[in-house]
Amino acid sequence: MLSSSAGPATLEGYGSCSFKGAVADKYLKEQGYDASLLKDLSWPKDEAKAKAVAAALLSWATDNGAKQYSHWFQPMASAGVRHGNAGCLQMAMFDFDEDGVPYPSFSHENLLQGETDGSSYPNGGLRATHTAGGYLSLDPLSPIFIREDTMFIPSCFVSYNGDALDEKTPLHRATEAMSKQGKRLLKLMGYNPEGDLINNIGLEQEIFLTTRSAYYNRPDLQFTGRTVMGKDAARGQELSDHYMAPISRATGAFETMKQIQAECYKIGIPLKTRHREVAPNQYEFAPMFGNVINQIDQNLMVMQIIEEVASENGMAALLHEKPFQGINGSGKHNNWSIGTSTGVNLLNPKQLNKASGNAEIFPVIMAALVSAIDKHGDLMRLSIASPGNDFRLGAMEAPPAVMSTYLGPSLTEYLEQIKNGKMSEYAPEKKALSFGAANVPDITVPAEDRNRTSPFPYGGARFEFRAAGSTQNVSLINTCLDSMAAEAFMIVADRIEAGEKPLDIAADLLKQHEKCIFNGNGYDPNWPDDAVKRGVWRIDSGVDAIDQLDSAKNVAMFESIGVFSEKELQARKSVLLGYYTGVVEMEALTMIDMINKHVIPSVKKSDVGNPNKLNDGVKQIKSALKKIHSEENETKQAQMARTLRLETMADVRKVCDDFEAKVPAENWTLATYDELLFLDTFPEGEMW
Ligand code: ADP
Ligand code: MG
Repeated sequence: MLSSSAGPATLEGYGSCSFKGAVADKYLKEQGYDASLLKDLSWPKDEAKAKAVAAALLSWATDNGAKQYSHWFQPMASAGVRHGNAGCLQMAMFDFDEDGVPYPSFSHENLLQGETDGSSYPNGGLRATHTAGGYLSLDPLSPIFIREDTMFIPSCFVSYNGDALDEKTPLHRATEAMSKQGKRLLKLMGYNPEGDLINNIGLEQEIFLTTRSAYYNRPDLQFTGRTVMGKDAARGQELSDHYMAPISRATGAFETMKQIQAECYKIGIPLKTRHREVAPNQYEFAPMFGNVINQIDQNLMVMQIIEEVASENGMAALLHEKPFQGINGSGKHNNWSIGTSTGVNLLNPKQLNKASGNAEIFPVIMAALVSAIDKHGDLMRLSIASPGNDFRLGAMEAPPAVMSTYLGPSLTEYLEQIKNGKMSEYAPEKKALSFGAANVPDITVPAEDRNRTSPFPYGGARFEFRAAGSTQNVSLINTCLDSMAAEAFMIVADRIEAGEKPLDIAADLLKQHEKCIFNGNGYDPNWPDDAVKRGVWRIDSGVDAIDQLDSAKNVAMFESIGVFSEKELQARKSVLLGYYTGVVEMEALTMIDMINKHVIPSVKKSDVGNPNKLNDGVKQIKSALKKIHSEENETKQAQMARTLRLETMADVRKVCDDFEAKVPAENWTLATYDELLFLDTFPEGEMW
């Protein structure tokens, strides 16, 4: 399985399975166009151009062995539940003639739209089974790609009435609103960059890799993505010896990491970095950042490829936020910035000041964003309320459930002056860093150190939303961030148009909203209570956060910029709550099965104590599930489910883990934390 080859000798094949750049150029030229056609996103509305693209795609697909095509979309609530977060119906790119001879067939109509069943995906009541249509429209922002024998066409998914049924459609609406209001504000301040404003993101994806043989001995990992029981190993993170360590070659880990990148490069995903993370058997990949729409499509594909390649190398990839108790879980840092179409980053003061010639714009944008964070911290909190994140937030490994921002002493001091009416240009200097040894050259570093304990620190040119969960489709996160920014830009633009001076507005916004700026240690146990005293959003329970989605404040905000209707928000909330409860139900039933089929038989066989406590535990879980089923209010159901998993199941787990400590290894039928977490010491198939 392991090979000592150093990887591909050439970069041949990399990028060839993504329809853009030189690849698209070659095939579009056969049709009398070139790749610039794709840059103008209105091409699907021009029949001649759409026909040319369809013909070029057919020719490209044929050359690359693809015989199927599929509209590829993002139903709600699919994260972590099954293999792959996307939906797709695959259709042949050929027909048979009367004599049964196949001939190529793929029209512009085939390309531009598709149809599927809208009621068989979670839809929050937007689709009844008898009015079930779900409609797909091609997304011109995201390149079409080929994997194996199929050409995938990224698409948006709505109901017959145009209500969004997916993760992607609202994100498009939010980026468009952000661009419209942002451009309006910039223009009022004398800067009129060409094209749309773009939300750029870069997603750091954390995962665990374990051997597939151990994974097959864990029904909980297979059904729910996390271990619902398991005694701690004798070794954990105490020596900090996993972070950035060499990638293990005792199993398929190294080969898996290498092949994941190679698969991504074929379809043009720039997966730039790979490394080992803090927890045992934890790894990370990060791409080069880019347009949010594109990046999210790519991240979904990265997650799918991770699972596929792992399985081909005798490994199992775990994308869950908290697969194991007692060690760090996994996140997906969402690095977020706004750029112009020509690459000027509005969060980079130097670039912005140079391009715009107006040093007042940066503080106005920053004040607007601070106001957005302060007002809508509830939306940020709910956007990261994946069920798995309930085990991570506030546990010293991810920021607490308090939505503050870290701006750093130098920017904070600068904004303080703006607040007091003193304008200057913000031009943070880099500083030289000496290593104290004459032979080691000095290097330059940013003026500000980094803060890893804030959920949303500013890092000189971007915000980093550090609390995102590893399984998440981060569309809702960025839909919220872009909508919040859009509303804040709109408010400032309206006030300028009504005659106020931009810097006066910035000062006013900072006075009202600076309370959400926190440059201290976010892991300080006193901070969450202090934050509440300050009036900063803190919502400990993910379920309570989700419950805020359709609050009057949030309906007004989303409707004012045309991102979600009230009906869509109610539907989405229902989907999120149902998803939460469903996840807990699977976890609870899995735990019951494992106790009955594994733990109790092992305890009896080994005669290590009375299993009554285990039977009692099963009864408690069953009775909690019964109560959840008889509750009709979805929020209450999810709240009860949360208590079941964080309290009842945690207590029952303790009983299981205590028995595990006593049962002789040969009688324990589940894979242990030792086996799941220490690949370096466990060549595949061997156990202590
Ligand atoms: P870390 O946060 O661990 O230091 P990096 O500095 O390598 O990691 O960056 C993490 C991610 O942030 C990468 O995907 C990178 O492309 C992305 N990123 C860097 N600059 C920006 C930016 N201006 N906007 C959005 N994402 C960015
Ligand atoms: Mg990071």
